[in-house]
Amino acid sequence: MTKVCVVTGASSGIGAETVRLFRLQGYQVFMGARREERIRKLAEETGATGLRLDVADSASVRSFVRELPETVHVLVNNAGGALGLEPVTETSEEAWLSMYQSNVLGTVRMIREVFPRLSRSQDGSHVVNVGSIAAIETYLGGAGYTGVKHALRALTETLRLEWLGLPIRVTEVDPGLVETEFSIVRFGGDTRKAAKVYEGMDPLVARDVAQAILWSVTRPPHVNIDQMVIRPRDQARADKVHRRTGN
Ligand code: NAP
Repeated sequence: MTKVCVVTGASSGIGAETVRLFRLQGYQVFMGARREERIRKLAEETGATGLRLDVADSASVRSFVRELPETVHVLVNNAGGALGLEPVTETSEEAWLSMYQSNVLGTVRMIREVFPRLSRSQDGSHVVNVGSIAAIETYLGGAGYTGVKHALRALTETLRLEWLGLPIRVTEVDPGLVETEFSIVRFGGDTRKAAKVYEGMDPLVARDVAQAILWSVTRPPHVNIDQMVIRPRDQARADKVHRRTGN
């Protein structure tokens, strides 16, 4: 039987690579994000089914989930990201609310709506939440983002308690610096500022994280990978990065 995988935030970066890798493994993939044109192109490229999805909007999540097959084997909650890098005293409430909406409540909405379909799988199912090293560390200007990823970690761990005895595995994949559109979004479209984040160092690429997601899902059914922290070799902590300067 073909297994079904659902990926949120598939219009770029880690989500798009996850779609590609699961398709290569023969999964039937359903993916969503807000930028429909991107999703349409990736659907053409991979044969996955692309649908508009805004995880910050309950109605959008419900209509996305209505289009899914009755049984879902893998749910990858990847949609999210950071907004801003200001100190707490200068931070915008709007940015915090938006980060909470996509990273935390978006994940809760997806899990709540997909749960009946995950429960129908005879061979067990798997939820993978894409967290961050921001789930286990803090850094200057990062209170909003580290706050939401810490909350996501609490959610992941609580699910593992609440689902104990059910055949549903729960994994959190926590990457360090990955060069995607993440920093462009964080800095409101400022590509020069975004490029500085990765200057002089070798960041992870989206495929590194997608491979970790796939690896955790393809372990034997009795094995639960709780948490995977993956950093570039050039990064020791969120704020401790080795950069090569000059030639
Ligand atoms: P990215 O290239 O900016 O991708 C983010 C994806 O999330 C996009 O497809 C975006 O699609 C989607 N998204 C954001 N808000 C959404 C919403 N409300 N509804 C549906 N989709 C939404 O960045 P990325 O690095 O691949 O990020 C993926 C995940 O990895 C995020 O959870 C991020 O926090 C995490 N992460 C990234 C890094 C890093 O350094 N890059 C490190 C650790 C963790 P639309 O805008 O089209 O909706």
